[in-house]
Amino acid sequence: MIIEALTVFPEMFEPVMSTSILGRARRAGIFDFTAYDLRDWTHDRHRTVDDAPYGGGAGMLMKVEPIAEALDCLRSRGPRPHIVFFTPCGDRFDERVAERLATKERLLFVCGRYEGMDERAYAYADERLSIGDYVLTGGELAAMVVSDAVIRLLPGALGDAESSVDESFAGGEGGGLLEYEQYTRPASFRGSDVPEILLSGDHARVARWRRLNAIERTCRWRPDLIADADLTPEERAHAERFMAGLGGVQ
Ligand code: SAH
Repeated sequence: MIIEALTVFPEMFEPVMSTSILGRARRAGIFDFTAYDLRDWTHDRHRTVDDAPYGGGAGMLMKVEPIAEALDCLRSRGPRPHIVFFTPCGDRFDERVAERLATKERLLFVCGRYEGMDERAYAYADERLSIGDYVLTGGELAAMVVSDAVIRLLPGALGDAESSVDESFAGGEGGGLLEYEQYTRPASFRGSDVPEILLSGDHARVARWRRLNAIERTCRWRPDLIADADLTPEERAHAERFMAGLGGVQ
């Protein structure tokens, strides 16, 4: 996969894209990353990318011309990019979107700054994404969040010992639930013990405990996910009983 970012702060990306799992996957050729400096598509001495908004108001907006020129240029070479603009006004990013983006050959992320950008720049967008209901100072962190979530889904990015199938929100085997509780040594810590079943070595009982634990955790922390979760009729009945009993839990 090719991942590219168009930004006025290209230097922000390198530490993230070259560390840990992302760095390993990049060195292994699972994805290729380039950050492009939007100022390279300006023509004035000050390399201006922003201007005051028509109609007045606080702050500056990103100008349309450098963005349009940059995207014309980047689009003209290589495979057709899927162009994503980051804005708090976009569709909410989640694991489903990450799974969809992970199927693209080339992703091109456009990062806003200042008060956002001239609306006409969005003519280049295949989609607009928000990473949540809060306002960042720029789209770079959003682009890195999305890149991280997408890259770990690419075949070979996670090692054999790591896996994305059971994880929170995962479709397929995960069933759209939060992940079950996990423990490592010691078995007892300051009076808090690891659930007995996990020490039993009985894989079928462990699997069943994990499944019910994932359902209960989802009921407790993210009840909004339960309606769409992939549950058997017995599991759904368990979830309903658990929810009914939750009343007083804080
Ligand atoms: N004035 C805009 C916010 C601009 S923030 C508004 O009220 O909608 C500056 C830039 O940061 C945006 O152009 C966008 O690229 C990025 N950004 C801020 N919050 C974001 C979020 N929640 N998700 C994705 N990108 C965001």
